[in-house]
Amino acid sequence: MTTTIGVLALQGDVRAHVTALEAAGARAVPVRRAAELEAVDGLVLPGGESTTIDKLLRLFELRDPLRRAVAEGLPVYGSCAGMILLADRVLGSIEGQQTLGGLDVTVRRNAFGRQVDSFEADLDVVGVSGDAGGGPVRTVFIRAPWVEDVGPDVEVLARIPERSTDGAGLGDAAGRIVAVRSGRLLATAFHPEMTGDVRVHALFVREATASRRS
Ligand code: GLN
Repeated sequence: MTTTIGVLALQGDVRAHVTALEAAGARAVPVRRAAELEAVDGLVLPGGESTTIDKLLRLFELRDPLRRAVAEGLPVYGSCAGMILLADRVLGSIEGQQTLGGLDVTVRRNAFGRQVDSFEADLDVVGVSGDAGGGPVRTVFIRAPWVEDVGPDVEVLARIPERSTDGAGLGDAAGRIVAVRSGRLLATAFHPEMTGDVRVHALFVREATASRRS
């Protein structure tokens, strides 16, 4: 049976994730209600605005069911705002902002500052490029967070290189952690759904398939 991946569809770039997941071989469905969570083998939390998604999660009464699902081992992939939602700790949050948590990391919102607000970079991502066979992954960062520190059970999958794809120096951002994995949670500060390269989605679909509830 095809693996079914939900995409949280409250706000953000839902459509592009659906397309990328289908290209990676999964069935992709939008998720807006708690009952729809029961039917998925994994869930993508898309980029967008973490403060807005947080408010909508509570409004749609999805926050507690989702926290339960994460605690029970549902594979979840968070991109950008989705990474913020998975983080146990957030720097630069607004008053009252909550996360779902589950991932033992501290993220800094809007970490790259105005100079490099949005940029593209070619990254080596563990399990996706390099040893895994392919070339670097072209990634898009849009008012992205970075991971400031990680707990002992968190695997670092990618860091910011010295330069962006167009050759601009990335200064103090170089070396910052931008992709992590812990248990069944995967998070990237970048948007892999915008480039047509679906290897990060394929990694998530493989992991969701392997941990499928029968
Ligand atoms: N800056 C946004 C936030 O804090 C994230 C940006 C994105 O998802 N592209 O939620």
